[in-house]
Amino acid sequence: MFDKILIANRGEIALRVIRACHELGVEAVAVHSEADAQAPHVREADEAIAIGPAPSAESYLVGERIIEAALVTGAQAIHPGYGFLSERAWFARAVREAGLVFIGPPAEAIEAMGSKTAARQLMVDAGVPVVPGTAQPLRDADEARALAARYGYPVLLKASAGGGGKGMRVVRSDAEMASALESAQGESRKAFGDDSVYVEKYIEGPRHVEIQVLGDRHGTMLHLGERECSVQRRHQKMIEEAPSVAVDAALRARMGATAVDAARAAGYENAGTCEFLLDRDGAYYFLEMNTRIQVEHPVTELVTGIDLVQWQLRIAAGEPLPFAQGDIAPRGWAMECRITSEDFAQGFLPSTGTIGWLRLPSGPGVRWDGGIEQGSEISLYYDPMLAKLIVHAPTRELAVARMHRALRELEIEGIETTRDFHLRVLEDEEFRRGDISIQWLEARLPSLLAARPPYSGVRAAVIAAALIAERDRGTPSVASTVAPAAISSADAWRIAARRDAMRGA
Ligand code: ADP
Repeated sequence: MFDKILIANRGEIALRVIRACHELGVEAVAVHSEADAQAPHVREADEAIAIGPAPSAESYLVGERIIEAALVTGAQAIHPGYGFLSERAWFARAVREAGLVFIGPPAEAIEAMGSKTAARQLMVDAGVPVVPGTAQPLRDADEARALAARYGYPVLLKASAGGGGKGMRVVRSDAEMASALESAQGESRKAFGDDSVYVEKYIEGPRHVEIQVLGDRHGTMLHLGERECSVQRRHQKMIEEAPSVAVDAALRARMGATAVDAARAAGYENAGTCEFLLDRDGAYYFLEMNTRIQVEHPVTELVTGIDLVQWQLRIAAGEPLPFAQGDIAPRGWAMECRITSEDFAQGFLPSTGTIGWLRLPSGPGVRWDGGIEQGSEISLYYDPMLAKLIVHAPTRELAVARMHRALRELEIEGIETTRDFHLRVLEDEEFRRGDISIQWLEARLPSLLAARPPYSGVRAAVIAAALIAERDRGTPSVASTVAPAAISSADAWRIAARRDAMRGA
């Protein structure tokens, strides 16, 4: 095992990797921008190196400076986390050329999976099912119409260089084709400097189901089952779970074997994820491979009992995987809610400010992977994801109840967050039935917004009670002054006690 590694990231994932290091007896070196000098990941690490100003282009994305920081501190390897430099083949190669270990797949595997059309061709050759369609750029609308006739409407125009949902257009008839092609090409040219667009069958109402793979340097490649990530807004995942209500043991084995084939075809090593669309008939299609640790990896850790980040380090250090495919089966149900600094009542507008109060959930089956604390400054420089709240329970129904309970315990003040949005989703009948697809959330948003405001937290209720008591200058009973829908009787005595304490102060 390594003695010391450097973590080329910030926020919750940097802390997650530091925890894995300390459990393995490895020293962790943090890097940070000027804006992050006081951040929790800097304090938790054994050493920290400043790498530049707040904008990521001048700090977390400057590969040479990060490699230099690893060399001067004597780190033997670099963990890239997710985002930033994690899927840049040139960075993985530069790390290797500096005599360090990149904790992830080989640069060649990142490259092989990096281009949508090249990856698609590689998968077709490996016998992996992809969405019916072409890999060649379209010449004109006539060719696109002829292909649409072959696959049947609706079809999806996709930018070859695509990413982040850009350059995609759903087309439902010949009449729409010419203008859709023109706008997809225009958007792709603007975003990627390349206007090649290809055509794919558009799958109606599928689920996003992805398979975690883990492969060592000795030829073992295993899958760790699926994650259901259909609750998405603008192609951004919001809630993930493992397992999926739509996947039984037989389908899991088939999709898992497909993911292992895909990973082998790419010459993969370490942890990776194959993303699939799963249609209503149980047919599935490869979308892309993410060549890094995923945000939602904890749900897989909780149901399999396998620490993915520790294994990333162990595999990179040359250890063989000690378990076999037959040893791995999901136990219970895990769910993750992404807590972001966004105001869902205002179209998920990013929210900035200082976290003035933070109360974290705890108790049975609750895990908090966070990168914030009281006093943290939330700016627009970085991703709005503050933390992930993850729960594990014996069944999906109990996991939903546990997540709801944990979200009620969570209080964040000073910025808007998605906490209340998650409470609304967890109270939604369709979600509770698991009746979801990748289009579900956007279609359901209006009714989620109109739903009864969820429980707002003990501290908010205490403040409300104190304000009302002050206004009335009396000693009103808590039950009659605080909005009864917002609090339970169990909270009432706590509020009364806190109110009495406040009055005494
Ligand atoms: P990007 O790299 O731009 O994110 P992806 O190929 O990963 O593009 O697709 C993003 C999302 O678009 C998917 O998660 C899925 O929700 C949707 N999508 C992609 N391809 C199809 C398809 N053929 N049919 C239906 N939905 C699709």
